[in-house]
Amino acid sequence: MSDNVFPVVEEIAKQAWVDEAKYKEMYEQSIKNPDAFWAEHGKRIDWIKPFTKVRDVSYDPHDVHIKWFHDGTLNASVNCLDRHLEKRGDQVAIIWEGDDPADDAKITYRDLYERVCKFANALRTMGVKKGDRVCIYLPMIPEAAVAMLACARVGAVHSIVFGGFSPDSLSNRIQDSECNVVITADEGLRGGRKVPLKANADKALESCPSVETMVVVKRTGGAVTMKDGRDVWYHEVVANEPAECQPEEMNAEDPLFILYTSGSTGKPKGVLHTTGGYMVYTSMTHQYVFDYKDGDVYWCTADVGWVTGHSYIVYGPLANGAISLMFEGIPNYPSVSRFWEVIDKHQVNIFYTAPTAIRALMREGVEPVKKTSRKSLRILGSVGEPINPEAWMWYHDVVGDKRCPIVDTWWQTETGGILISPLPGATALKPGSATLPFFGVYPILVDNEGNELSGATEGNLCISMSWPGQMRTVYGDHERFVQTYFTTYKGNYFTGDGARRDADGYYWITGRVDDVINVSGHRMGTAEIESALVAHAKVAEAAVVGYPHDIKGQGIYAYVTLVADEEPTEELRKELVKWVRDEIGPIASPDVIQWAPGLPKTRSGKIMRRILRKIAENDFGALGDTSTLADPSVVDDLIENRGGK
Ligand code: ATP
Ligand code: MG
Repeated sequence: MSDNVFPVVEEIAKQAWVDEAKYKEMYEQSIKNPDAFWAEHGKRIDWIKPFTKVRDVSYDPHDVHIKWFHDGTLNASVNCLDRHLEKRGDQVAIIWEGDDPADDAKITYRDLYERVCKFANALRTMGVKKGDRVCIYLPMIPEAAVAMLACARVGAVHSIVFGGFSPDSLSNRIQDSECNVVITADEGLRGGRKVPLKANADKALESCPSVETMVVVKRTGGAVTMKDGRDVWYHEVVANEPAECQPEEMNAEDPLFILYTSGSTGKPKGVLHTTGGYMVYTSMTHQYVFDYKDGDVYWCTADVGWVTGHSYIVYGPLANGAISLMFEGIPNYPSVSRFWEVIDKHQVNIFYTAPTAIRALMREGVEPVKKTSRKSLRILGSVGEPINPEAWMWYHDVVGDKRCPIVDTWWQTETGGILISPLPGATALKPGSATLPFFGVYPILVDNEGNELSGATEGNLCISMSWPGQMRTVYGDHERFVQTYFTTYKGNYFTGDGARRDADGYYWITGRVDDVINVSGHRMGTAEIESALVAHAKVAEAAVVGYPHDIKGQGIYAYVTLVADEEPTEELRKELVKWVRDEIGPIASPDVIQWAPGLPKTRSGKIMRRILRKIAENDFGALGDTSTLADPSVVDDLIENRGGK
């Protein structure tokens, strides 16, 4: 692993919300006296009725319950809209950048407020009440944020399904959360290609009897069939509604949304988040982790279909009165300079993306980046997977011109917000490390028997205290919630991830625990071997899994994608094995290298190692839930060429 250290940049520390000393002081308070800490910070949002209770939490498997600020009442949309009207009604809330670079829009807080009120009224007119579930299946258009906030305003629980999902995946999620209303668009537009959202939704609804109404936003104007008595146009239902709407008074613990996990490790779970703690936690992490200041232009490239889009495009930033950029397109359309061009066009100060995008753009070389200015950038962020030190360095040196700190933010759909991450003005950086916990977060490493490990070590990552943004249950299946997170290591929340802690107390996520391999008694995170492979100039991407090995217990099986124009040869295979040997040590030498033109990924861009593991184990019958795969044909190719010949 890289032990490069990048000290805090002085100009950043000088003007940041917190410097190193302040971080230490606040962190200590938050752990020693969480009730006082959160009683204070709980006030950062607007309450209708202020809370007097801070938390009531039990991780006991016989009685798991998590409550924060539970006698307070509030409304999330009021926190994102109404409270900004006086001071910044005319300030931009959302900069929308369309798929086509000629297509963009700026929406002020007042515009957004009015649009949300109109749609919230329309939802009420349709009969949507507090507690009802509403499915949102929209492209990245402003109406997605409007729909989320309108649901929040009337107390309906939204369940967003990413626009790239098939009719089957959509219908499973609608059925699981028993939605009565679906909000979609005629078509989406991504990379110049149309996505038939309405047609997909029509197909999905054939098996969703609970749905009474489908609202359709006109995005492309493409032909769709509207079903009488069920389907209505968005622009028609909002046309005559007033631009004011009385918000529903919600208890802090009333549900805000359901969101299904990406499905990297199995059947997606319907993660339920509630209102008060989630708003406190997302707004607070957004402010501190990105060091957000009034007027900054902030761009998170996630889709609202993922938790990152929920917490860090919509709820966190808007609660802070931020300018949040929402992007409809993809990183390589119309060209591989698109991200950097958008940064220049809108003078983006804070940019937050995923390692998968960074690695893909890295393959294209530095030219497409260097031809843009990027002078406006101050802070870079990463989320979704461990970022390989190689990709980190490229992001830092090429994209950020060595000026911008990178916040590598570790968190999960379940955690609601960022748990482990540097703070730009406070934390020295190490490429590949998510560094230190956020306020109120107490990570521990445990061995397989659940004993807490101390000092520099490696183990299963658990969080031993609750934080306000934590998920409250799996929708409709509290038992699965308890089983998945609270029974393996009693008394702790188990993340499912493995991590290493170094002598400075920095955390290095080694991947999912299932991905830790044991070669002749040596435990290794697959992420480390992958990073070594990706550091080779000819390798674009790599995924490593274990497979049963007669002598070593587990052998190392590496799937390798080469950079454009590189041919796989026997010589290169040997070179890579030697390379990993030299980088990490003989124990890490891959036993098998299979050339992979593509890797199986979830639609959020994460490598599905569980499928690769099955292929490596020669167990094709049991690939498990593959409904969240972005491109199923990749799997056939890998099966056909198994063994690396
Ligand atoms: P499922 O839970 O359905 O298997 P998933 O875990 O991929 O899917 P998410 O909640 O989207 O669903 O992803 C969270 C996981 O992503 C984390 O548990 C971790 O493995 C990984 N991850 C996210 N951010 C980082 C990061 N900065 N560094 C390392 N790993 C990360
Ligand atoms: Mg997960």
